[in-house]
Amino acid sequence: MGILRLLRVRLTLWYVALLALTLAAFSAGVYVALRESLYTNLDDSIETRSELVSALVTADGDIDVTGVEIPGDPVEGEEFVRVFDASGEVLLDNSAAAFRPPEDPAAVEAALHGETTRRGLAAGGVDLRVMTAPVRADGRVVGAIEVGLSEGDIHDTLSRLLLIIAALYPVALLVVGGGGVFLAGRALRPIDEVTLAARQISAEDLGRRLDLALPNDEVGRLARTFDGMIARLDEAFQRQRQFTADASHELRTPLTAIKGQAEVALQRERAPEEYREALRRVNEEVDRMIRLLGSLLTLARADAAQIEIEREPVSLERLAGDAMEQLRPAAAEKRVTVTPLSSADIVIRADHDLLLQLLLNLLDNAVKYTPEGGTVEVSWRPGAERAEISVRDTGPGIAPEHLTHVFDRFYRVDAARSRAEGGAGLGLSICRWIAEAHGGAIRAESPPGGGARFTVSLPLA
Ligand code: ADP
Repeated sequence: MGILRLLRVRLTLWYVALLALTLAAFSAGVYVALRESLYTNLDDSIETRSELVSALVTADGDIDVTGVEIPGDPVEGEEFVRVFDASGEVLLDNSAAAFRPPEDPAAVEAALHGETTRRGLAAGGVDLRVMTAPVRADGRVVGAIEVGLSEGDIHDTLSRLLLIIAALYPVALLVVGGGGVFLAGRALRPIDEVTLAARQISAEDLGRRLDLALPNDEVGRLARTFDGMIARLDEAFQRQRQFTADASHELRTPLTAIKGQAEVALQRERAPEEYREALRRVNEEVDRMIRLLGSLLTLARADAAQIEIEREPVSLERLAGDAMEQLRPAAAEKRVTVTPLSSADIVIRADHDLLLQLLLNLLDNAVKYTPEGGTVEVSWRPGAERAEISVRDTGPGIAPEHLTHVFDRFYRVDAARSRAEGGAGLGLSICRWIAEAHGGAIRAESPPGGGARFTVSLPLA
């Protein structure tokens, strides 16, 4: 049964079976049609013969066979002619005694009543086709004529046809079967190539591609689709590896700082004030780690689609108010003014806590990167299907080459400065995830007046 698992064998079997059926139907059709036409021909010959003879016998309007010459039977038993008078008496019979066919009074009777009948009969080992027909003179039935012709030729022809069919049928099936295996094998060989190449690509070398030079047919498209899929997997794996490497690196920095503090403190006996200072620094680093781990956890759960968006009516005015309230101490410390710029409220359906986190991240960045005495504006406006919230600051802004990258994970325009501020470059990637999870988007701009502007657009419902 193993071989049946091969597609090429199954395909070939299918079309050999189909061909067998088609050929059988075709042969049967030819046989029946030929048989029909041979019998029609035979009937025509019988009719012609009977007309010839009846023309002879009805010369003077009455039936009289004296002097009628009926050509003899070329081969004995192959044909015969009989003529009957109006009372059904045999007037003439040219059949040889050894092959004399039995009479059929019912057929003669029917002929005398004007009806023609045909039948088959066997006489002396020969199959004959017989017609019994009326002989008319001036529209009156004056007798009957019976003509018989051998069916031997028909039988010969038909059995020859059967013989040819029987000989050619298996040959045709064999040829088509062999050709089928060959053609199916040829058509399917590229699939084997794809399978073989795909088997050699493992998780470790996703950089490899099939790169098969196949035409743009079904198999070619399969191979190209496969390559596309491997490319996407490769990208995803690389991103994952990069993410892990970046995360480890980010975690090492505060740990190294903590270890440094501890070692310095332990080197020798110190004053309580110095211990307190060391602990304060350690505490700061631990806070940074906690924040970093919190962000990593959020992103990991976002990637695993474990965070559910719980939509509820959210007033943007209230949301902005809450966020600004929370940022107020930090802003006050840097003497940065945070102000709302819109008056009309907009209510959208969104996850309140996630939106608050998004806005807090943006405001936190704005305050962080705005120099002392600067301003941060929060504004919102409705659109046809979306609402937009913007946070704009009077800081240094973002250079064009960085604008599209600031949402990437661990991306920092100025790593040293950003780390000094406590950032790991994850805040904006979380913002982007929150916006996209709501079916919205986020963009960064450097508006003409200077500073940076972050705009989040969110669907209203
Ligand atoms: P971080 O936690 O380091 O701030 P983010 O993902 O929030 O990380 O931001 C990525 C980078 O984008 C930051 O390192 C910073 O260089 C830049 N950036 C973010 N917000 C602003 C802003 N308001 N003004 C200038 N640069 C900004």
